[in-house]
Amino acid sequence: MSQNMIAAAYLLAAVLFILALRGLSSPTTSRRGNRFGMAGMAIAVLATLARPGNHPDGVVMILIAMAIGGSIGLVIAAKIKMTALPQLVAAFHSLVGLAAVFVAAAALNAPGAFGIADATGAIPPESRIEMTLGLAVGAITFSGSLIAFGKLQALLSGKPLQFFGQHWFNLALGLAMVATIVLFVMSGTPMFFWLTALIAVTLGFLLIMPIGGADMPVVVSMLNSYSGWAACGIGFTIQNLALIITGALVGASGAILSYIMCKGMNRSIINVLLGGFGSDNAAAGPAGVAGDRTVKSGAAEDAAFILKNASKVIIVPGYGMAVAQAQHALREMTDVLKREGVEVKFAIHPVAGRMPGHMNVLLAEANVSYDDVFELEQINPEFSAADVVYVIGANDVTNPAAKTDPTSAIYGMPILEVDKARTVLFVKRSMASGYAGVDNELFFRPNTMMLFGDAKKMTEEIVAALER
Ligand code: NDP
Repeated sequence: MSQNMIAAAYLLAAVLFILALRGLSSPTTSRRGNRFGMAGMAIAVLATLARPGNHPDGVVMILIAMAIGGSIGLVIAAKIKMTALPQLVAAFHSLVGLAAVFVAAAALNAPGAFGIADATGAIPPESRIEMTLGLAVGAITFSGSLIAFGKLQALLSGKPLQFFGQHWFNLALGLAMVATIVLFVMSGTPMFFWLTALIAVTLGFLLIMPIGGADMPVVVSMLNSYSGWAACGIGFTIQNLALIITGALVGASGAILSYIMCKGMNRSIINVLLGGFGSDNAAAGPAGVAGDRTVKSGAAEDAAFILKNASKVIIVPGYGMAVAQAQHALREMTDVLKREGVEVKFAIHPVAGRMPGHMNVLLAEANVSYDDVFELEQINPEFSAADVVYVIGANDVTNPAAKTDPTSAIYGMPILEVDKARTVLFVKRSMASGYAGVDNELFFRPNTMMLFGDAKKMTEEIVAALER
């Protein structure tokens, strides 16, 4: 393939990636968006393999590596549970970061092979800038994503892990990293390259460790953005237009998503980066009792009776619905209620579940109509007119402490104002707190009825009771 044809193929791939992002912005067009993305990536890979000057042995090795990596990816994709997707995404980001580090290291080792050596065989300063920036962002993404993976997989505590003077230490490390980058760019001495990698890996660990439960969504989308910028930086090093464009698209869209998540959480990005939220880890009491306070709990038949007599019901799904895979039972319950003449709507909080769009994906899988699904700003004014709110496996996203308790880890986060409804039914297994580790005052309110049990089983029992 000639250079011009390669450039045209990359351009086509870039257009397809943009169409993919556009498609992914709505559940109705997301499948089409994915297909555009796959087509774009296939074109980019084929064009790269067909570049003039590629050594046949190299192409064969790449094909073998792709076959191995692709097979592993296929097995993981087939086996992964929906509930484990967030940590899988974090793990993939970590691999993107590691790939950027490896490419930068390879370019340092054999600049001629990457076409960046000058007449003397040395790497020119502008290439040193590109490769160390890609290296630094890649190394931070690698270790930071590993910590995010550990926290989401519950291998590490979701609580912020901090030590005295951490912010100052991080600042000092950040400045040291800038210094080693400058020294490498000026001198080309490999030692500064490796020092940059070491400091960046340490910084990635230290930046993500102090971030507590409630702020993890922003962190995951930020790491997504970093992984894009790392790829973009490395694209400059290896002079691959497709990688530069794709990296920039991922970096920019990840940054926009982080902004949206920050808005959803009412956080400033600087606040999140400095970490330390979510330290208020409430203890989970046994069902029905918390200290000397009691809660009202009911059975599926009670819930069915209340739901049947309602004229407007709002359903609030959360992470527990995903764990229990209760979406199909929920859809059945919706159908039965609608047949009874009850108006049913779904309310989705921007950080419900464990990844952006988590609830939308599950509801779409169960064929819940998009017309029945509403976002926080749209649905909040409707809670006061609802007879019943059915909160299924959601907790933090309904917690009024976010509005009333300035010391709370989730203070400032907008919530779904379910407490305004006449009756609130809470389906969960115990009195345990949610991901942010904050007690939920709503469980003790007089208009709340707890329905203790697995979300799917409870909903199925309610459907059975409704149909009796
Ligand atoms: P929460 O984590 O606040 O609460 C989920 C509740 O579901 C728990 O209290 C749990 O209570 C219950 N639950 C778990 N399993 C089951 C089950 N099988 N059946 C019934 N209930 C179950 O979830 P929310 O969706 O309300 O809030 C999301 C939280 O996750 C926020 O803090 C958010 O910041 C964070 N987060 C969000 C991400 C995102 O991108 N959306 C990413 C990372 C974190 P019990 O154990 O008693 O059953």
